[in-house]
Amino acid sequence: MKDNERLNRTIKEIASKYNIETGESEFCKFTKIKYVRYVTGNRHVFKISDYLVKAPDDVLEAYVETMITNIFRKNKYYPSKVMDWLLSDEFLISCRPIRLQRSKNISGNTVGKARDLGESLDRLMDMGLVEESDLDGAYYTWTSRPNYRKVGECDILFRTVTISCALDSEKVPEKVLDYVVYHETVHLRRGYRPGEAAHGRKFKELENLYPDGKWCNDFISRNLRKK
Ligand SMILES: [Zn+2]
Repeated sequence: MKDNERLNRTIKEIASKYNIETGESEFCKFTKIKYVRYVTGNRHVFKISDYLVKAPDDVLEAYVETMITNIFRKNKYYPSKVMDWLLSDEFLISCRPIRLQRSKNISGNTVGKARDLGESLDRLMDMGLVEESDLDGAYYTWTSRPNYRKVGECDILFRTVTISCALDSEKVPEKVLDYVVYHETVHLRRGYRPGEAAHGRKFKELENLYPDGKWCNDFISRNLRKK
């Protein structure tokens, strides 16, 4: 396949600079952006998220260089070339549809049976908690099946917020839903921060601006998580 040929050409070229022996690597349909490295004999073989198929040559080269140099020293962060691409509109437009297709539990809708995520965001904006800029390129959706363990999820790179349809019920107070939507939106606002705790001090400060957050959390633990 042409994409794998391009990948192997890039890998061979960069690996030879570091005297690394490589085997046949390939792009894989991973849900997240990642790679896995195997060693067979003394050859290094990589499996890489196929989102990188969409990356321009210089970005793929920078990514491959990171994979190769990670063999001797762990880089916690992507180089800026890769970062810029991951944070670009181009990345969202070309890769998010693929990511959504691979999500097994999303409805693709903001309108649920009893609640509307758009209305939830409107209420949060009226409260002054969410700003227009937080929603830049963001995609919100209900899950198609209830997830009781994880009531909300944010994929920061793909700017996707998924809210469990367990909250799409008259039995769940609106403010509990809004709290979860707010929590995930704070992740979007904070953006991609490799090496930082997801719920660090800064995050908590923002989250605590939501009134009755503790009550909402308790409601979720008592009524949803125990199922
Ligand atoms: Zn969180």
